[in-house]
Amino acid sequence: MLRFLSFFSALVLLSPSVSAHPVTPTQTTYLGNEGIMVSDGHTTVLFDPLYPNGFGTYQMVPDVMRQHLMEGIAPYENVDAIFISHMHPDHFSIGEVIAYMRRHEQVRVFAPAQAVDWMRQEAGDDAIFDRVTAVGLERLDAPLSFREGDLTIDVVRIPHAGWPGRAEVSNLVWRVTLSDGITVMHLGDADPRDEHYAPHDDHWMVKRTDTAYPPYWFFTMGDGPQILSTRLNTLKATGIHVPIELPVDLFLTGADFFHVPGETRLIEKVGAE
Ligand SMILES: [Zn+2]
Repeated sequence: MLRFLSFFSALVLLSPSVSAHPVTPTQTTYLGNEGIMVSDGHTTVLFDPLYPNGFGTYQMVPDVMRQHLMEGIAPYENVDAIFISHMHPDHFSIGEVIAYMRRHEQVRVFAPAQAVDWMRQEAGDDAIFDRVTAVGLERLDAPLSFREGDLTIDVVRIPHAGWPGRAEVSNLVWRVTLSDGITVMHLGDADPRDEHYAPHDDHWMVKRTDTAYPPYWFFTMGDGPQILSTRLNTLKATGIHVPIELPVDLFLTGADFFHVPGETRLIEKVGAE
């Protein structure tokens, strides 16, 4: 019996070194407002990283951080793709995304067709558009899926907060799986009414999300808490779009959220060795 146990103990001890790759934990870094970077050491993606306006209410990306990001200085040197949720100016900068794409010739952009139309008006017929994927989903359209290198990408259009106001704004919810199998979801400025999510139940159920990044109002408004706990099939949620002046009701929920640019979180793979 003792020998039996020690055999398994030895296996457990050995198993980390059996892995072919050194284990790099997946890390999310907060840039500002809804801007985040998620990297597993092999693949690196950015969501809503460049935007011109915080309306005096939301965190801007600090100047030094934005400069390093634009120039591709570590830890922003190996970006594979940028995802844009919608074309509002606290999420998307036409000029900066164009400039970034011209400078970083390996980077792909996935964005609502509305945002890409604006980029085309600005940049004309530029070679960068070979690396831009414009998503023209309508509300209640079936989700789309893409493969890009080691990334698996699913996207669905969910109305902007304030529904039925702003119904014309194409807000995209991106679900991205990195090369290590970690899946994250960025919700943009999604509205927290379950009527938008229920029709896509298959989409949420077909893949478990490790961490979702909802706007902070999901923790305190409408069906938000229930959407996070049961609908989206996510293990964890970390709030974004948190105003500089921290809302007391958000604080009282005890929810996890990003508030200070540069903050990080590790995402652990459930069931990993
Ligand atoms: Zn918005």
